[in-house]
Parts: sequence; structure tokens; C-alpha cells
Amino acid sequence: MTLPTELLREVVLFLLNEPNLQTLQASLEGFGVPVKPEWEIISSFSICSRTFRALALEGWFWTLRVKHPEDLVDESLIFPEIKTSWTRELHCVFSETCYNVLWNIDDFKHLRKIRFDLRTSRALNDSELLTSDRRLPFSNLTSTITELDLRGSSWPSPFITQSISNTFPSLKTLRMRQGMIWCGLCHTCSVPQFKEPGPEFIVYSDIRGLPVSLSYLGEIYLHWLQRHYSQTLSSLSNLQSIHLTVGNLASGETILRTGDSNNDIFWSGECDSCMALLYQDDTFRQQWVSKKQSFLDNPEFLKPPQLEKVEWVFWRLTSEDVHEYWEEISDTEGDDEAVGQQTHGNNDEKQDEVST
Ligand SMILES: [Zn+2]
Repeated sequence: MTLPTELLREVVLFLLNEPNLQTLQASLEGFGVPVKPEWEIISSFSICSRTFRALALEGWFWTLRVKHPEDLVDESLIFPEIKTSWTRELHCVFSETCYNVLWNIDDFKHLRKIRFDLRTSRALNDSELLTSDRRLPFSNLTSTITELDLRGSSWPSPFITQSISNTFPSLKTLRMRQGMIWCGLCHTCSVPQFKEPGPEFIVYSDIRGLPVSLSYLGEIYLHWLQRHYSQTLSSLSNLQSIHLTVGNLASGETILRTGDSNNDIFWSGECDSCMALLYQDDTFRQQWVSKKQSFLDNPEFLKPPQLEKVEWVFWRLTSEDVHEYWEEISDTEGDDEAVGQQTHGNNDEKQDEVST
């Protein structure tokens, strides 16, 4: 008995592109590592017949991983179908060789998602990553791209989320994975710290949980850096979910556990130092938490209008990880806002070959 080609196609695409839950929980060491399986898994299948080979190639190139913008020019792609019909997800690995070069994704007719891994050996200046008009370095984007997975931002300030809004206006899903998060109270980045063991994940619905800024809620707007994700992402009218994966340095004083019932402080990115200092004032803490909770109902505050879910996922870091991180920062020069890129440093290059 022979399966119809269409059914066989569905099976092949599912097996090669099924979301890997373990990968979704990946640690920082996963940066730059592709999620697609090895070609050897389907190499035997691909040589069984002409039909099987076509299905194998389509499934294999569903996700295309490249390490330089030049990998996207027609001369570098061995099959024209990669652009015209096969590829749905583009995985771009940004390194020092990519400075000041745009990733031109013209002619990718069915692209839905871009994963953008920042893998440089030192801190990035904004000018090395972003274009002069504050966009991520892509050109010829289309409205079919509804998901972005940005990994390895060394300083995930509102400047970065503003550049995301400027670059991908049609996003429905935004994923960001990095060690640190921007604190809405002190307006700087740090690795989240909680009292042992800290949470594994927390999930908010109805737009709650989106990081906001003290200066904004306090109506003392002075500088764009005192904005927060809520404002900088507000122009994304189709954005439905935000998934933030950040570190957890289990050496803080803040008590937060997995699950809604253990989150009376309504945590949304505040650093442990701010909470230890400011939450001693019960009046301040109650007003701050109340403002965050009422954020949903106040039409004066900017936020993505369709946002339904904000998910925080945490992975455990050690003090050695952070020490190594700051050593890397101290080795960098220049821009005060450019903080060390490789939080953990030891990003072994497991897959050196471009997956084409
Ligand atoms: Zn803070």
C-alpha cells in the first residue's frame, strides 16, 4: 500500500519541523545552534525515489540557517525553490563579519518567521547592529513575516524593542531570549535574581505582565529610555503574544515562584536591587503594583492592542556565569550602552556548516 503524495508530504514536514519543546526551553548555550535535524536522518529516504527526494528537500529547507547576508543571494542558494516555495523560517546568525551588511530577504515568497541570533565575541554598539533609522539589519521584508525570535541581545533596552517595531510591523509573535532584562524602576539591565529556587516560568493573560516604566506610569516622561516595552511595542497592532526567556540568578531576596498564586508583586522585569530597596516602603509597593495591575484598563497607556499573552521563562545561572559575563564586558570599549554580548561565553560552535 502506498500513501498518497500529499499525505506523505504532511508526514515528512511534520517530522522535520515539529516544535521541539526542549529547544524552546533552551539555555543561552543554544544560541546559534539550529533546531533542524541532521540531514542524515532523511538522507536514505531522499534517495528512494524522485518523489521522496522532492519531499525531503522541501522539508529540509523549511528552515534555512545562514551565517552571513551573502548566503542569501541567488548564487549561494543551490535550489531556486528555497526562495520561491520551500523556506518558511529563516535562521540568521549574526557575527562580527556581518557588521553594516543588510540581510536581504527579497524573493522569499512564503517566509513566516525570522530567528536572529546575535553571536559576537564582544559587546555590540548600536551602530554595529542597527541601521541609521533604528531598524534591525534586514531589507525587503514582507507582511508574511509574523514571528521574530531574537536571541542574545546584550542590552535588551527599549531601544531594541523600538527597533523591532520599526522593522517588523506585522508581528503576531515576539520571542526574546537573553540573560538580562530591562528594569522599569531604575532603567538599566540586569540578570533577574530571586530567592532560591525562583520561578521556572510565569504566564500572564489580558496584556498583563508586559514590562512598564515607573517614569511613564508616574507621568514623568523625560527620555525615550524611560519608556518600556509596552510603549515601544505599541505600534504592533497584530501582536498577540510575547515570550521572554531570561536568566535566574538564585541569589536574590525577591520571592517569586512558578504559578499565578505566588506572584502578588505582579513581577514584570524589576531588578532585585530595586525591589529590595523600594518595596520596603509599603505605600510605594502597593501603588506600583496597583498601577501595573490597572494598566490593562487605562486607555491612556500605550500598549499593543491585540496582546493576549506574556510569558516569562527562566533558566538558572550561577555566579560563575555572571562573573564571566562581567569580565567580558570589562574587555569591551566605547559606548556605555553597549554591554557584553556573550553572557556565558562558551558557545561552542556545534554546527559550523551552513544548513543548505
Ligand atoms: Zn531596577
